[in-house]
Amino acid sequence: MKRIKTSCKALALLGSSVVIMLTGCSAGESPAAAEKHEAQVFAMDTVMLFTAYGEHGAEALTAAEEVIYALEADLDPANPGGSVYAANAGAGQYVPVSEDCINIMSTTMEQYRATGGALDPGLYAVVQAWGFISGEYRVPAQTELNGLLAEKNTEGLLIDEARSAVYVPAGTAISFGAVGKGYAAQKAVEAMAAAGVESAILSLGGNVQTLGATKPDGSLWQVAVTDPRDTGAYVGILTIGEAAVVTSGGYQRFFEQDGVTYIHIIDPADGWPVDNDLLSVTVVTEDGAKADALSTALFVMGAEGALAHYRAEGGFEMVLITQDGRVIVTPGLRDSFGERSGEYSYEYPEK
Ligand code: ADP
Ligand code: MG
Repeated sequence: MKRIKTSCKALALLGSSVVIMLTGCSAGESPAAAEKHEAQVFAMDTVMLFTAYGEHGAEALTAAEEVIYALEADLDPANPGGSVYAANAGAGQYVPVSEDCINIMSTTMEQYRATGGALDPGLYAVVQAWGFISGEYRVPAQTELNGLLAEKNTEGLLIDEARSAVYVPAGTAISFGAVGKGYAAQKAVEAMAAAGVESAILSLGGNVQTLGATKPDGSLWQVAVTDPRDTGAYVGILTIGEAAVVTSGGYQRFFEQDGVTYIHIIDPADGWPVDNDLLSVTVVTEDGAKADALSTALFVMGAEGALAHYRAEGGFEMVLITQDGRVIVTPGLRDSFGERSGEYSYEYPEK
């Protein structure tokens, strides 16, 4: 956990699945322009960039960092001091946890149900079996995966809000790896607002969240959607107001063995890394945790499933990038999406 103050140039060059496009630096702006404060933090296994405008910017950056570090510790299933570790260690009984743990579990279970289990917080043992937690990657035997899937009981997870406690069924281990960064970004912008900032943008790896409908100069925020086949390039730019923009894609974490690529997003149906027609899913919606939950679940569903879910549920917009070189942009983003690649064909389906 290290904070480095950076120049505008360094920020603009940093790669992530969604990159904030920074135009101009404080030095080049007119004297009337709002002060721009920036910080770079490494937490939750990713590089995070924070930008806050105005006189309370510095306090807001500190507030955001504190929120991130506290959540990192609380939600890490490997940290004995945290809520998720405690919930797993106490499987088979109710365990008192933090309010954040209750909140993230509520959003996750809501999306678990809404997505027919495509987002599954009970997959921790399976994710571990593939080595995605330790970094010691391996391809588990199907019998091992079947055993882990048979033991997991995500349906049986219970939340007692009144007592601020959760129940993890014996044999199940939970993690919020698919939602944690989105939740953290959401809480961080809330802390920045409470510190008196009206305009800010955060990028936590693939998760971008803005605070305020515009930058202080009245212009909208610009968020680039990375080209999954060439992560230094973009397939497009989203011009947005206050929103969360979250991307899930196989290119973010994977390993190769015997010429086969295994990505870090697991299909709960068989315990195997997802291998479908998608390269990435970018979700735009108000709430960061919901955006993160959906980006993972929609990726598991594949392009047709994701579009069907979009049509059935609504409440979010998305950009799908497919293996066969198509970029599919939903109607609510049609006017805010700018095409940036000659390598893809662009599709704008009706609702
Ligand atoms: P990232 O962490 O790169 O932003 P995601 O938000 O898509 O990507 O979350 C992927 C992480 O969530 C994995 O690294 C793993 O820990 C966990 N995970 C993998 N598959 C699932 C799934 N189907 N449901 C819930 N969590 C998952
Ligand atoms: Mg996610």
